[in-house]
Amino acid sequence: MSKTRIKGLLFDLDGVLVSTEQNHFHAWKSIADKYQISFDELDNERLKGMSRGDSLKIILELGDILISEDEFNDLLHLKNQIYLDSIQKLNQKDLLPGVLALLNKAKSKNIPCGLGSSSKNAKTILNLVEIETYFDSIIDGNGVEFPKPNSEVFLNGAMELGLTPNEIIVFEDAESGVKAGKDGGFFVVGVGNIHIKKSVDVFVSSLLDFNLDEYA
Ligand SMILES: [Mg+2]
Repeated sequence: MSKTRIKGLLFDLDGVLVSTEQNHFHAWKSIADKYQISFDELDNERLKGMSRGDSLKIILELGDILISEDEFNDLLHLKNQIYLDSIQKLNQKDLLPGVLALLNKAKSKNIPCGLGSSSKNAKTILNLVEIETYFDSIIDGNGVEFPKPNSEVFLNGAMELGLTPNEIIVFEDAESGVKAGKDGGFFVVGVGNIHIKKSVDVFVSSLLDFNLDEYA
């Protein structure tokens, strides 16, 4: 792919723009504790980029726990409540390094930005960290039928930006999101998570190391 053809950027939220990893971990941990399921940070790695429902299925499988659909839905709600309570204190200082600079750079170059996140709370978080106005398209967990690793979230974002996947860079930190981006035909920049280094087109430790001038 020619580096000069980039016309748009699509960002994953968690782990790329902000980190609410610890908030998710503690919320899931309290659910696991309720059922005396052993759940640690390594188990938590497997949940990255997954929908809330799929994450809960994995946790219950870890403890060989079978529950009714009603109880399952109650747990999804409870986990989200614990999580939402814990993220209310997020503010612009919680943006990961290089985020604001890149968003401003994109704006100055008239490169539209979109969000492609599995999180159903994406808009709440974008508001809390005060970057919602930078985004021309916000596709979150409420706007897709198939979560990552399906490409739908990014393909919908591309459509809303009026661009084709090969004109867009996807920024991702999780294996499932990288697969969604690559399968969708996007140029994928991996951010932060060393485990995805081999699966991405370009890897950076943080967005501080990404220079948009090289691509657009
Ligand atoms: Mg992520």
